[in-house]
Amino acid sequence: MSDLTRHVCEPRLPPARISIIIPCYNEEPVIPFLRRELTTFLDALPCKSEVILVNDGSRDNTLTLLVEWAQEDPRIHILQLSRNFGQDVATTAGLDHATGDAVILMDSDLQDPLHAIYGMIEQYCAGYDVVYGEREKRTGESPFKLLSAWLFYRLMRLLAYRDLPADVGNFRLISRPCLDALSKMRESHRFLRGMIAWVGFPQTSVIYRRESRVAGVTKYSVGKMLLFAWSAAVSFSTAPLNLSFVLGGVAGLFAIEEMVRALLAHTMGWYVIPGWTSLMVVTSLIGSCLLISLGILGQYIARIYEQAKARPLYLVSRTYGDPRKVLEGTRESLLALQEVHASR
Ligand code: UDP
Ligand code: MG
Repeated sequence: MSDLTRHVCEPRLPPARISIIIPCYNEEPVIPFLRRELTTFLDALPCKSEVILVNDGSRDNTLTLLVEWAQEDPRIHILQLSRNFGQDVATTAGLDHATGDAVILMDSDLQDPLHAIYGMIEQYCAGYDVVYGEREKRTGESPFKLLSAWLFYRLMRLLAYRDLPADVGNFRLISRPCLDALSKMRESHRFLRGMIAWVGFPQTSVIYRRESRVAGVTKYSVGKMLLFAWSAAVSFSTAPLNLSFVLGGVAGLFAIEEMVRALLAHTMGWYVIPGWTSLMVVTSLIGSCLLISLGILGQYIARIYEQAKARPLYLVSRTYGDPRKVLEGTRESLLALQEVHASR
């Protein structure tokens, strides 16, 4: 995936501290695997690290296992949410508490391989602020899951956000400046992937192979997937509102066709039930008028909705060569030059 907005990426030092954020919901069978793999990974990491595990109102023993882990490892922090808020809100809670220069978002089920994080850090050092994990291949997932994921990303790009990267999950690295920008977006219906695409900043991807879950089952049933897709579309775009406008237009055309047909039947003396003509014309016209006015209303609600989000109008991701410093420097060197001239 290429950088959508042209930025000049300046190389930077590796992060001094990395935060890893992992939301967990009913992941009891997964936690022992996660603990083993993550501990090995953190021990090998050449910088300071913290792991923020957000327990998203699990009903099983997830929390007990997490607390045991935290008691033995000072790098582990746990946030317990009062109930299940959903993956994106849980992740946001983790983001708000992260203290690292670079933050990694990942799932608890080890579908996202930890070694891919090294590739992300490399891109961070090259100057990128967001590094997505782009799925090259998914193993061990049902054909339904693969088809629905494929459809979801295409539909979201069509309906909600044109620049939404396809085949990209929540697995990614975010730099501190980008995280600070993201933290300003406090909308309640959160579609984090879309929001991170929206903040802009230099973004790139690393390709990885998505494995099957180490244990447990997916938390997204067919119903939950559909609900998630709908909520993502509605929270991120006003396109669904425009749908009623289009429907109104189509119904209007149909009404005109019916009207012409009914009037022709009336004037040409075709067989018609008495009263049918006027009834047809009136009902179809009223129907289309209602839909069109709903569409117009939708346009207004869409604007109020956008306004209610109160997002910043723009974000400055970085500045090159502070103009004030350049001017001061020039003035100083000019004065020095004048002094040299005067003494001669
Ligand atoms: N998750 C969560 N809250 C939820 C649903 C899921 O915190 O309401 C977590 C879950 O524990 C996992 C991650 O989000 O760490 C991704 O969930 P899952 O693996 O079930 O999604 P899939 O990989 O099947 O899309
Ligand atoms: Mg998963």
